Amino acid sequence: MELKQQIIKFGSDFKNSAEKLTKTAVDSSRKLTEKVKIQNKIHQAEAKLNETYIAMGKKYEELYGNRADPAFSQYLADIADARAQIAAARAEMSAAASAAVCPKCGKYLTQNQKFCPYCGSKKQEDDAVIDISTESEIRLSETPIDE
Ligand SMILES: [Zn+2]
Repeated sequence: MELKQQIIKFGSDFKNSAEKLTKTAVDSSRKLTEKVKIQNKIHQAEAKLNETYIAMGKKYEELYGNRADPAFSQYLADIADARAQIAAARAEMSAAASAAVCPKCGKYLTQNQKFCPYCGSKKQEDDAVIDISTESEIRLSETPIDE
């Protein structure tokens, strides 16, 4: 083969393999897009499935919660436990929000403390201190059931 022909062949081979690479890249990009679409379908269906299970559980509790089959008693106990934890945490949060704060160190003070037990600063008299126990009771009764 002449040099000129060799160069032409090389150029042609190079062009072919470049086209092949491009085609492969496009194909795999399309495959990836398709894969993502399919994965989204799976995720959406799984989310729908989980939502349905949750709705079914809520419906069961609503209809049979007080006369549930013993097979459900652990679930119902777990639900009651989680609700109690949520209520307690909410009460804690509202207590923290309404409690007086030491002007110097920032720690929470109870109603009876005239001086900060952590740094000894005098509590400011105009700090509004809400009775934590009353506030907690209000919060507990306000807690919506299906939240
Ligand atoms: Zn302090």
